[in-house]
Order: sequence, then structure tokens, then C-alpha cells
Amino acid sequence: MNLHEYQSKELFSHYNIPIPVGFLATTIEQVKNYVDKLNNNAVIKAQIHSGGRGKAGGVKLVSSIDESESFTKSILGKFLITPQTGSKGIKVNKLLVEEATSIDREIYFSIVIDNNDYAPMIICSTEGGMDIEEVSRTMPEKIIKTVCSPILGVSNYKIRKICEELNIPKSLIPNFTEIVNSLYKLFIEKDCILVEINPLVITKEQKVIALDAKINIDDDALFRQKSLKDIEDKSQLEKLEIEANRNDLSYVKLEGGRVGCMVNGAGLAMATMDITKWAGAQPANFLDIGGSATVEKIESAFKIIVSDKDVEVILVNLFAGIARSDVVANGIINAAKETESKIPLVISMRGTNSEEGLKLLNNSNLDITTATDLENAANILKQKLSQGDI
Ligand code: ADP
Ligand code: MG
Repeated sequence: MNLHEYQSKELFSHYNIPIPVGFLATTIEQVKNYVDKLNNNAVIKAQIHSGGRGKAGGVKLVSSIDESESFTKSILGKFLITPQTGSKGIKVNKLLVEEATSIDREIYFSIVIDNNDYAPMIICSTEGGMDIEEVSRTMPEKIIKTVCSPILGVSNYKIRKICEELNIPKSLIPNFTEIVNSLYKLFIEKDCILVEINPLVITKEQKVIALDAKINIDDDALFRQKSLKDIEDKSQLEKLEIEANRNDLSYVKLEGGRVGCMVNGAGLAMATMDITKWAGAQPANFLDIGGSATVEKIESAFKIIVSDKDVEVILVNLFAGIARSDVVANGIINAAKETESKIPLVISMRGTNSEEGLKLLNNSNLDITTATDLENAANILKQKLSQGDI
């Protein structure tokens, strides 16, 4: 679950991590008021679940009330498109009005879970403020990675080494150390999978301040992070994603494709998308029905996929272990009949009760082609595409 910048900064301030003075606004009047309060020297920032807002025109330094009014009019209630949002963009409902900070240096600082070492890892760089993926591509030597012990946390000697590599002035090392320790504490206590500050700045007045803040909470830990779950901004999610969350399904919309993918398990999702591309088409989405699925859950899954207007064919790839093929087949058949969907389906089903499942599908009188395995399914898909059936 993603938090907004203003929500992340609120958490930062609970952990004594310095942030600029700022106010959240939802109307033009509020923005003008706050800019006035900040002596006409403010930065207005679109609050959407995306980075790259600066380059996309979502962050604006203003030095007058008039300027703040015209910027707010141009952005509030509008869709902001960034390289991370897809072509539709995300609606801007809230703006953060902050004091303009005089920047001396911009540092990149984040904590993530390192899946190789099964431990938190600090990633930082002197090249802050810009796209970190770009830094990693063009100047990989500028990325500093420090794996922390899940038991001991982040040791002081590791922080000292980071300070050295980031060239933190001696006078700021105690300050910087405190920020790293607090951020690490927040990361652990709030079950984060990512805490990112880009940029963490050293101001002209020689203070260390978090100018941006991005926090991602582990969805599987939300049951014990109730206060965070309660502040989730659902307006930032796609309608179909909300519907999927409600039914305990994982749905991800993908740009530019026309094949809907229904799978069970993330690994199978990746294999299915690879094979879709191999067949010459792009996936429009993928929907993971998870391990144990009921008929009702499959029905909702099918309805979500057919609600995606980009979907012209559905590829179902099921490896039934705990889930039963006949249950999945019944769910698909019920939902296809109920929605009167004319979208053709290519279905590969293996594992528990697959024979019963395939029989149900083959006898359903729906536009379903069953496949013996994923390779066969891909060939059927390829054939359909080349014949122009889809
Ligand atoms: P994003 O990462 O989405 O582009 P940021 O919050 O990092 O958004 O803002 C982009 C850039 O705008 C920052 O790198 C920084 O240079 C500048 N900026 C952001 N907030 C402030 C602020 N309060 N004062 C001065 N400059 C700011
Ligand atoms: Mg940023």
C-alpha cells in the first residue's frame, strides 16, 4: 500500500525526521492562504501516488499569491501524467504547500527489503533529486548499498561508512546518524517494504531535511497496521483494482495490451505474460486468483477482466494445487453466461480435478478453446492472432 508524500512526511515528523513546514490543501483558497502564511516563498506539490512529479510539472516554486492561484487552477482536479502513471495519469485531489527550502546538496536515500539477503538494505547516492533508475544505469558506481542485520539493525560503523561515502560534512554527521536510525526504526515498526527520500537535502543553512517522502507498506502486514490502512487513499487506485482488493484478488492493469490473463500465483503470472508476448500479443492486465478460490471469487475475477475495455481475448493459465479446476471452470462458465461476454477464452488447466474442469469447459457452449499445457495455449493464441480471429 502506497502512502502519499504528505502522509509519509507526517510519519517522518512522528519519528523526528526533519521535514519542511507544510500544509495540505484541497481548495484554491487554502493554497492562497498557506502561500501567504509562508511569506510568498512556497513550493506547491501535487499529491498523487507517483514519483517524477517535478519533471512532469507537478511541483512548482511560487513567489506570489497570483502565481499560486494560476498554478492551482491548472492542476487541482486535473490528471497529472508522469513517466510512472501511464497515459491516463492520476487525478490530483490534494496539494502540499511547503516552505521553499534553499538547497545546497541533494542526496538519494532509501531503505528496501533486499530479497537476496532477506534483510533490510540501505541504498543511497550522492546523485539525489534525479531518477535513481537513471543513475543506476549510467553511473552504477554512484549507488551505495548497505545490507543491515535483521537482528542488530543498522550498526553505527555502517552509518559512519555511509557518511564517508556520501561526503557528509563532519558537523552534520550526528544529525545524519539520527535521521538514519529513526528512518530504520520507522521502516521496521511500520512494516515497510520501501522508505525513500529523494532528495534528502543539505540546506544552505547546513540542515539535513527530507524534501520528498515515499513509503510503501507491506500489504500482508496491514492487518497489524490498522491506522495506516485507514488512511489509504483509494481515489488513487484504478476502479478495477479496488474491486479486486475487495475480493482478495491481485489485479494489475498493464498499458497497451489486449490479452487478459487469469492465473494463480505470481510466478505463473510472469510465465503467462512472457508466453503472451511470445505469441505476438501484449497482456492488457493480469489477475492472480491466489491459492484457494471459490466459485464466487472466480466469478468476480472474470467480471473484473471483462470490464477492462482493452481485453479482446482471455488467457487462463491455472495450475491447480489447493484451488480446484472444476471450481474455477464453474466460476468462469457462470460469469461468462451472466455477463453475456463474447470475449474468446484460451484455457490451460492442470492439477487437481483438471479432467472434470476441462470437461465442464468443453461442454459449456461458450467460445472456449482448451489447451493441454501453456505451450499449447500459446500456440492456440498465436494461431488465433495470425488468423485475425482476434
Ligand atoms: P518528485 O520526486 O515526484 O519529482 P520531489 O518532491 O522530489 O517530487 O520534488 C522534485 C524537486 O523539486 C526536488 O528534487 C527538489 O529539487 C524540488 N523541491 C521539492 N520540494 C521542495 C521544497 N520544499 N523546497 C525547494 N525545492 C523543493
Ligand atoms: Mg522525489
